Amino acid sequence: MAKKPKKSSRAKKSKPVKRQAKRVATNAKPAKIAKAGGTDPKRVRAILEKLDEAYPHATCALTHDNPFQLLISTILSAQCTDVRVNQVTATLYKKYPSPEAFAYASPNELEQDIRPTGFFRNKTKSIIGASKKIVEEFHGKVPQTMDELLTLPGVARKTANVVLGTAFGIASGVVVDTHVQRVSGRLDLTKNTDPKKIEQDLMQIIPREKWILFAHQLIWHGRRVCVARKPRCIECNLEKICYSKDKTV
Ligand code: SF4
Repeated sequence: MAKKPKKSSRAKKSKPVKRQAKRVATNAKPAKIAKAGGTDPKRVRAILEKLDEAYPHATCALTHDNPFQLLISTILSAQCTDVRVNQVTATLYKKYPSPEAFAYASPNELEQDIRPTGFFRNKTKSIIGASKKIVEEFHGKVPQTMDELLTLPGVARKTANVVLGTAFGIASGVVVDTHVQRVSGRLDLTKNTDPKKIEQDLMQIIPREKWILFAHQLIWHGRRVCVARKPRCIECNLEKICYSKDKTV
């Protein structure tokens, strides 16, 4: 008499487990298929070829004469257009011609000098902090490793990748700015929205020797054709292999 209730309680416990397993299997399938489609090696190669056709000489738009100036310009470019940064730095680098000049500048004066680029108080702190560290700990030279660059105030992976790639030709990662973020999503090269995760996704599917040029190409494409509002898909040579929901043709 006491065994009957035990059997029925086992049967009741096992049912939800089976139902849960089924749900997981059903959810997992479409995600795998979608990922394989977007980042299929043939498709990625086709995208790279099209970008090479359209932007064979894409490069950094920030005016600079040396790695230190590129670092400063990149810090200034946060939330600001490259055109505006170039207007400001045209006189800024004459007034502050060396890392020492920035390191020991008057914060109030530097704030006014870079004011048109926005966020000028934080940028002044970053520029003076980074310059001091470069002068006092790196003998006045911009370091050439990701780990060292990341110790500089105001420098995160995006800035470090710009400096390493453009100034030194070192591919330590992929620059992920707002354009790379948007265009790589529209091209279904990543499902992520966090820049750090996007960079990891792109590093896995783009050959390392293309990392530097690829980022410049996506930035150019994002500025010229695949713009944020109403992308100019009719002018886009990637249109046939793009299935973004934002497409305008
Ligand atoms: S087809 Fe349109 S959405 Fe797709 S990459 Fe080109 S411009 Fe961007």
